[in-house]
Amino acid sequence: MIKIPIYDPSTEVESLSQEVLESVQKVLQSGQFILGQNVKNFEKETADYLGVKFAFGVNSGTDALVIGLRALGIGNGDKVITTPFTFFATVEAIHLVGAEPILADIDPKTFNIDVSNLESLITEETKAILPVHLFGQACEMDELRAIAEKYNLKIIEDVAQGFGGEYKGNKLGSMGDVGCFSFFPTKNLGTYGDGGLITTNDEETARFIRMLRGHGSEKKYHNEMFGYNSRLDEIHAAILRVKLPKIEDWNHKRKEVAERYQKGLSEIPEIILPNEKKGRVHVFHQYTIRVLNGKRDELKNYLFEKGIGSMIYYPVPLHKLPVYKEKDWAFPIAEKAAEEVLSLPMWPLLPVDSQEEVIRAVREFFI
Ligand SMILES: *Cc1c(COP(=O)(O)O)cnc(C)c1O
Repeated sequence: MIKIPIYDPSTEVESLSQEVLESVQKVLQSGQFILGQNVKNFEKETADYLGVKFAFGVNSGTDALVIGLRALGIGNGDKVITTPFTFFATVEAIHLVGAEPILADIDPKTFNIDVSNLESLITEETKAILPVHLFGQACEMDELRAIAEKYNLKIIEDVAQGFGGEYKGNKLGSMGDVGCFSFFPTKNLGTYGDGGLITTNDEETARFIRMLRGHGSEKKYHNEMFGYNSRLDEIHAAILRVKLPKIEDWNHKRKEVAERYQKGLSEIPEIILPNEKKGRVHVFHQYTIRVLNGKRDELKNYLFEKGIGSMIYYPVPLHKLPVYKEKDWAFPIAEKAAEEVLSLPMWPLLPVDSQEEVIRAVREFFI
């Protein structure tokens, strides 16, 4: 029996239920279910919070990536550099717009794309870089932006796991040509269903995003291109507006959990703890350790027997998935990470005694 799951939304749901029910009720009474006042206000509030000019609510994080790529003109025959160590949707979106991913191995310390060899991958067909701020920690944005500028590439930030995270004082999702967010329920800002957001500072890109999410038309019945039906629902915008004012506090609470883990687990030689790089705000969407000497699965089973949940994000690097069976890609650092990573229980309201129980169990395993 799992006593401490990896993620448990129940206390949050309970503490917000009154406010959420009231705002959903208001949506029902308004009779406005698509692109009404809640979406409008939520877009304004997130744009202000993230420090960007425009934000657009869409159906999901996957749609945010697809529409973001298309709004930047990425399509057939284009190549987009990204990481093999991420959720599948990152590369799926690239294929869905007709482009092709070029994968670059990761930095073993942050699990994010390694910027040191990126330039060697750039060809005539390369049009963009798609960095993923994995587990809530920022990629090397200065280096990425310098490369993008030098080779005239677009940057699409995948911020699905990093709402509120920062790099040198800038919010993630404010530094690329577009930023793509997911409000899937388990994300650090999530709704009770699917949802996503696209940010940009560019007027023309904003115009394309606005069109693409609504069947390629800015003006109703004046369709200019083939787009999508991809909008954030009013009900989800209303729920997210209850949660947005709390995100700073929740991210801070995640950090406190991370600090307690850090303290309690720092002396175990066979694990490597996540390191928050200087000048970043890591939002610890996941608290992911590396377990050395082939002991990861054994530790996972041990925790399970003690009633503690844990997850492997990600057990298979993307280039090893069946969809890529024709390719002979090898990314040894990502492959090693897939064998060693283990994410421990993490959510803002994770009780302190549960955190201590997790620490105790991990320590016991290694004694
Ligand atoms: C969750 C996630 C997505 C996709 O978001 P959905 O809202 O589930 O479509 C994309 N990229 C990353 C890194 C994610 O974690």
